[in-house]
Amino acid sequence: MALNYHVLVIGGGSTGAALVHDLALRGFRVTLVERGELTSGTAGRHHGLLHSGGRYAVKDQESARECIEENQILRRIAPGSFEENDGLFVAITDEDVAYRDKFVKGCADCGIPTQVLTREQALRLEPHLNPEMKLAVRVPDGTMDCWRVPMRFFATAKHNGANIQPYTEVVEILRRERTVVGARVKSHVTGKVTEIGADIVVNATGAWAEKISEMAGVRVPVRPSPGVMVAVRGRWCNMVVNRLAPAGDGDIIVPQRALSVIGTTSWYTDDPDRLGLPEDHVQMMYQKGGELIPAVKAAPFRAAWSAARPLIGDEVLEGGRELSRTFKCYDHKVRDGVDGIVTISGGKGTTMRGMAEATANVVVQKLGVDAPCRTREVVLLPYWAYYQEVQG
Ligand SMILES: Cc1cc2nc3c(=O)[nH]c(=O)nc-3n(C[C@H](O)[C@H](O)[C@H](O)COP(=O)(O)OP(=O)(O)OC[C@H]3O[C@@H](n4cnc5c(N)ncnc54)[C@H](O)[C@@H]3O)c2cc1C
Repeated sequence: MALNYHVLVIGGGSTGAALVHDLALRGFRVTLVERGELTSGTAGRHHGLLHSGGRYAVKDQESARECIEENQILRRIAPGSFEENDGLFVAITDEDVAYRDKFVKGCADCGIPTQVLTREQALRLEPHLNPEMKLAVRVPDGTMDCWRVPMRFFATAKHNGANIQPYTEVVEILRRERTVVGARVKSHVTGKVTEIGADIVVNATGAWAEKISEMAGVRVPVRPSPGVMVAVRGRWCNMVVNRLAPAGDGDIIVPQRALSVIGTTSWYTDDPDRLGLPEDHVQMMYQKGGELIPAVKAAPFRAAWSAARPLIGDEVLEGGRELSRTFKCYDHKVRDGVDGIVTISGGKGTTMRGMAEATANVVVQKLGVDAPCRTREVVLLPYWAYYQEVQG
């Protein structure tokens, strides 16, 4: 069913990818603009951990529930995109052991299956774990390719008629009185500036959301919170390894092909284009990662990089772990009295589809059309279909 409404999505990360797919399936005419290459923001630069939600099960249960639900849906709609390797939350100290019951209960509250393993059972699964470890809890984490999964959404959207324009930057939001009616965009290929009209504009620019909202004269409480990741050569675990403790620095190791990715840290910045790569954070990844798997301390360096989380919160806090990892969708008519624009922010790569569903529901409601979500069931095309010509 074709709907005679045009939606402009700004931002070609995982959230924009899932959203353009959702809107195209519902029958909207949809255009997505991304200032750089697709997934060149945060989405293409995370660890690649398909979260079970275990990491958030004690302190941030809303986010944990979103993760486990989307973890299961993504496995269904994007088969072959994940290493279904599970994760271990590993106790090294007596304090970690004391955290076990809280962790297992938190997981049970959120519907995350767990299995408590003895030291011997865990070491049999992962022989490189710290031999002083005391026990581990197994959860359905996984490894994903943070570029290929969003590209499957883009591919399917493109073949369903979406117009996807990378290297196209929004330089101005167009308003008619108190209604947003489109955007002025600059092509970084031709240098040309053009206008794109829209019935609804969705700001899906993650850590950059505040910049777009300022152009529109609305406010979103997004706090860009960067973190550092380090990849070392060698696959020092086959499962995702986490510390059995409240989320902290350097407490995740994700196997990615023949590498191990150690992450991460957390701080706040005002400018997501200038993150830097603090050397002490890189060193901390070796040290903290080495507490989980000693061999990573001496493993050859492959790469280190940083990326910014789009966390939601007004407060200026200390480190970045105080804010929830859940997502929020703002209808700026309700929030700021400006119609025609919606912002989606927060969340995780893992929750991209759920974020898109919530946002598309707001779009549908604003336009007063009946177009239900279908993305829970429709199996995505392979990532390489994005580069194929659309037939017919
Ligand atoms: C250190 C770290 C580790 C993480 N690890 C994981 C993990 O292992 N698993 C997981 O599930 N999640 C993880 N996350 C979270 C996840 O990466 C993010 O939640 C997700 O990538 C956000 O995607 P997004 O599409 O909302 O934002 P982005 O990917 O940042 O997309 C926004 C896009 O908007 C574009 N843009 C900005 N301004 C404009 C403009 N004016 N015009 C056009 N385009 C514009 C940007 O170029 C960008 O590509 C991690 C995050 C961090 C920071």
